[in-house]
Amino acid sequence: MAGEQVLIVEDNERSMKLFRDVLEASGYRTLQASSGLHAVELAVEHAPDVVLMDVQLPDVDGLETLRRLRADERTASLSVLALTAQAMHGDRERFLSAGFDGYLSKPVDVLELVGAVRRHCDGCSGSAAKSTELRETTG
Ligand code: MN
Repeated sequence: MAGEQVLIVEDNERSMKLFRDVLEASGYRTLQASSGLHAVELAVEHAPDVVLMDVQLPDVDGLETLRRLRADERTASLSVLALTAQAMHGDRERFLSAGFDGYLSKPVDVLELVGAVRRHCDGCSGSAAKSTELRETTG
């Protein structure tokens, strides 16, 4: 497999570890950032295939981080999926209209996570075959 690269942007250590473990077990390489500013740096440097973006971050939030990625031609076309605990009615539309390519609400179902990454990963081809063995969820 090609080992497509996923940038995980998440400030909660337990969530980061879960997302990383699930994605790596599914054949993806990962990059990890716990802040929006670090995420922008890594995205520019590595041009990951997919970015998983927690919306609530300690410095610039996920919406502002997305805005910065979209404003830079080197990262403007990256696939960016929002991760948010704000599971309120209408949020999905709000995040999609903000320019995210997809939206996952917490607690995240890891099968849904891997499926979303696979769908948004250009040229992905069966990297997530092992995902059906994983049944864990997190908050
Ligand atoms: Mn957070």
